[in-house]
Amino acid sequence: MMVNEKYEKQANRRRAERAEMVRIVAEEARDTADWLGKEAFDRKVLDALMAVPRHAFVPPLEAAAAYENRPLPIGEWQTISQPFIVAAMTDQAEVDETSRVLEVGTGCGYQAAVLAALGAEVYTVEALPGLAEAAAERLARLGYDKVHCRQGDGAKGWPKAAPFDAILVTAAAKTLPRNLLDQLAPGGRMIVPLEAEGGTPAPAHWLHPEQVLMRIHKAEDGSHSERILLPVAFVPLIKPPKTAKR
Ligand code: SAH
Repeated sequence: MMVNEKYEKQANRRRAERAEMVRIVAEEARDTADWLGKEAFDRKVLDALMAVPRHAFVPPLEAAAAYENRPLPIGEWQTISQPFIVAAMTDQAEVDETSRVLEVGTGCGYQAAVLAALGAEVYTVEALPGLAEAAAERLARLGYDKVHCRQGDGAKGWPKAAPFDAILVTAAAKTLPRNLLDQLAPGGRMIVPLEAEGGTPAPAHWLHPEQVLMRIHKAEDGSHSERILLPVAFVPLIKPPKTAKR
């Protein structure tokens, strides 16, 4: 078989796997309609999921599982969220080509790429230097030039690029991060997983949820309202390692 033919076959197979992933994600959206407060994900969100090659974001050994609807390890004890959660967070953030978006927790860069596929200008911060560097290199190589990467403490946001129309936090916070709320534009949306032990009220029929995904909406007058979306399981927010400078 010619080399090109082999690549083409593989690309076709991955496209088919990706289409199946999108179908399953759309189905799960219908199953969770009551929680998410809408019948289906925006078609554009599903198109963005179809446009991003998830297999190019996971470690080579995980590429065969890239289109399964589950989280995967990405090194340094971190994970890439399951596609349904990426879709749900993206959908709830209501992002379009006019949006400026902050992501806290770049990880492998997949969520940032999905936001960029919707046309948004994306600012993403990663605490761990190894992951930050790898993601920045990967996003640049794949042509995501609307994604701006930086290593540091994402809980502090990105003040110079603020305000943001949407903020996605992809690691669990103990309480609502104040700095991030301050950097949210009036009318903006923040999607953030919160530790339930921080006092977040979860519906009584959820047996001991450890984390809940929250949607925060900032009104034009600066006040904000909160809504619980889903029980979730994210890695916790951490402090970036101190680099020994001498
Ligand atoms: N959105 C990522 C997955 C995130 S996993 C993706 O699409 O691949 C959560 C990530 O948040 C991890 O990579 C972790 O290192 C990072 N993280 C944890 N605490 C952080 C902090 N304070 N600032 C920035 N990133 C943080």
